Amino acid sequence: MHQEDHALDLVLENNREKDLPEIDVSRTQGEFLRLLVQMTKAKRILEIGTLGGYSTICMAKGLSEGGKIITLEANSAHASCANENIVNAGFAECISVQLGAALETLPKLEQQNESFDFFFIDADKPNNPYYLEWALKLAEPGAVIIADNVVRDGELINRHSTDPRIHGIRTFIDMLAQEERIDSTAIQTVGEKGYDGFVIGRVRD
Ligand code: SAM
Repeated sequence: MHQEDHALDLVLENNREKDLPEIDVSRTQGEFLRLLVQMTKAKRILEIGTLGGYSTICMAKGLSEGGKIITLEANSAHASCANENIVNAGFAECISVQLGAALETLPKLEQQNESFDFFFIDADKPNNPYYLEWALKLAEPGAVIIADNVVRDGELINRHSTDPRIHGIRTFIDMLAQEERIDSTAIQTVGEKGYDGFVIGRVRD
């Protein structure tokens, strides 16, 4: 379906050397993100949750000329590994890794009058409801919002779950269902990373 990608293999190799957890998107999911970026002709992407930059680099591969990605990461070891990977993959010009807890960085982006046409939310799931609020604040009309890990082996339908990640994702999905500013749905995925899914939404014009 898609070709081997040496640059992406090197990212995973460096992540392993630096002991990063293997919680990046899969190769197939990364290709899905790249295609979405390409199909929507996104130019200003905000990612929440960088890890080693695997998904960031996948999205950068779909960016059109002059496109930019800002990616937010709370863990300094992850951010530093991501910066190495981004330089090695040749995307230093178009990707900026911003270190800090996203809920502290996001207000700074607002103060700087930043706006985005594509969002990928993939950090600490209990904060997903806040990330949705921030995405809506920073979104341009027609912006695409993607969030990962919204199925979690089907655990999402367990309304009695005490897992704060499940609680965060359930609240996030309830908010989307009631939110008039966005059209959204969920796609279930299965593969090397197990049974999970993405939310995909489009901010209304
Ligand atoms: N998107 C990455 C990929 O597919 O290659 C994977 C991201 S990983 C699932 C989640 C990342 O979010 C971790 O690196 C973690 O340190 C970071 N993170 C967790 N809480 C955060 C927060 N409050 N603000 C910013 N980043 C956070």
